Formats: sequence, structure tokens, C-alpha cells
Amino acid sequence: MNKQTSLFDVIDKFNTEEKCIAHFEKIRWPKELICPRCEGKRIMKFKATGKTGKERSLYECVDCHYQYSVTTGTIFHDSHLPLTKWFLAIYLICSSKKGVSAKQLQRQLSTSYETAWYMAHRIRIAMQEDDDFCHKFSGICEVDETYIGGKGKGRRGRGASNKIPVIAIKERTSGKLRMKAVNNVKASTLKQFIRDNVAPGSNLNTDEFTSYLWLDSSEFVHSTVNHSETYVKYDNDGVIHTNGVENVWSLFKRAIYGTFHKVSAKYLPLYLNEFAYRFNNRDQFNMMDRVLGTSC
Ligand SMILES: [Zn+2]
Repeated sequence: MNKQTSLFDVIDKFNTEEKCIAHFEKIRWPKELICPRCEGKRIMKFKATGKTGKERSLYECVDCHYQYSVTTGTIFHDSHLPLTKWFLAIYLICSSKKGVSAKQLQRQLSTSYETAWYMAHRIRIAMQEDDDFCHKFSGICEVDETYIGGKGKGRRGRGASNKIPVIAIKERTSGKLRMKAVNNVKASTLKQFIRDNVAPGSNLNTDEFTSYLWLDSSEFVHSTVNHSETYVKYDNDGVIHTNGVENVWSLFKRAIYGTFHKVSAKYLPLYLNEFAYRFNNRDQFNMMDRVLGTSC
């Protein structure tokens, strides 16, 4: 879904169950139909009437006789909701920069709150970065941490109780982002996250928080900016700042507090993933198809 994809386009393209099935079939099996059980390629298509009296499009594998539908084994599996609603929900979630709450989905899709919550939750699970996550960031990377939720305005130390620390790394050239909710912001915790996500030799831009001091004698190049003096510093290592990741915090906080009002510690990792996924795929021609692809 690029910037030009409008709600009208989506409704026009996916206004019947048949159109959704045909599209999803192409995403699941781009070359030819494959049996999910035995990987056989001799597949018969047929229609059958389900328990609810509705006609269903099914497949049967000629080799192992397994019968399945296009949604078998996907996030839509076992759902009685039509794909037209699912597709629209995915569009709404992908196209909104700040995400969509279950309450908003409930209103826009005319479902119950429970159904809307369930759909949003399932879609969020599909919005996970895949293989990309194995490769480490390199070049100049900005690192910063913040606190989400809880009471009080304090950031580090006092006032931070009940708040959940979140760390983020942004690779400057690609603009890609990784975020994680952590138990604390001790040097050992930040070290683990940085080492898991950034290649040695990369230049890490941070503020002067003491938990980043270890970087000075590490496998990384470390450049700091003192936020009480300036937000952008120029030296031999180039332009030093953490503005990219600071912008992420402000966008994320507006999303969390503006859209979801409150997020529990249990679901924060899922929201972080959804946010990072949308952020990292914002220029993708077709984010909706990408989500459909990871839903299998
Ligand atoms: Zn089979």
C-alpha cells in the first residue's frame, strides 16, 4: 500500500469475499497451489456448504486428501468473520501512522468490541519484522531509551516507578528502527540490546547517560551529544545527534497516549513491534500485502 492507496481503492478492490480469496490465494501460493500438509501440487478446488449454511471455497489435495481453505493456518483461521472485514481492518491499521484502537475499529467495521479487539490483536501478531531482524544495523546508529506509562514526569531515576523502560536503535542511512521493552536501563541491559542489533565497528550516537559509558572502550565507535548544551554536534565523526530516535519517541508517545490511552506491560511489546513495523515499512509499496504475507 503506497501513499496513494485510498480507502476507496481498498473497498473497490476487496468488496467481495471472492475478490479477497483470489488475492490472498496469490499471496499464499504465488506460483501454484501447494498442499500445506504434504506440499503436494495436485490440488482440486471445490465449493461446500459449511455448518452455518454459507458456501465455502475449499481445496483438496489429490495426494493426501487433506481439505483446507485459503485461511487455514493463517491469522484468519477459525474466524467466522468475512475476509472483507479483515482486509479493511488491516488497511485501517497499516494506513494510520499512530495505529488504530479496538474502539475505533469497532466503530469503523460495525463489530462488537471483543471482535474488534481480537482482530487488532491478530493483525498485530502478523506485523512482525521477519528475516530482516537477523541482520545487524551498521554505520551510524542512534540509541536512546525512554519510559512509557506510569505516573509522574521523571525520566531516569525518581518518578520513573511504574514506568516501563523502552530502548530504541535507529540506523541512520536506512532509517530503520528496532525497539524493545526492557526491565531496566542498566549498562548491562543496554549492552545486550546493542550487541544483539548492531554490528561491531558501527558508530553509536547517544546522549551522555552513564549506562552508555562502556561504549567508549568497546568494539563500537561512540559519539555523544550533551543535551544540556546542544542537540546537534559536529566533529571528526561527523554530525552527532539522536534527533531521529527522539522523533520516534514523540511519535510513539502520541500514538500510545492519543490512540490507546493506556497500554499494559503485557501488551507493550506487541505495540512496539506494530509501531516499528509500520515505521520501517512506511515507504513500502504494499504494506497491506506484506502483512497478509506474514499472516500465514
Ligand atoms: Zn497433501
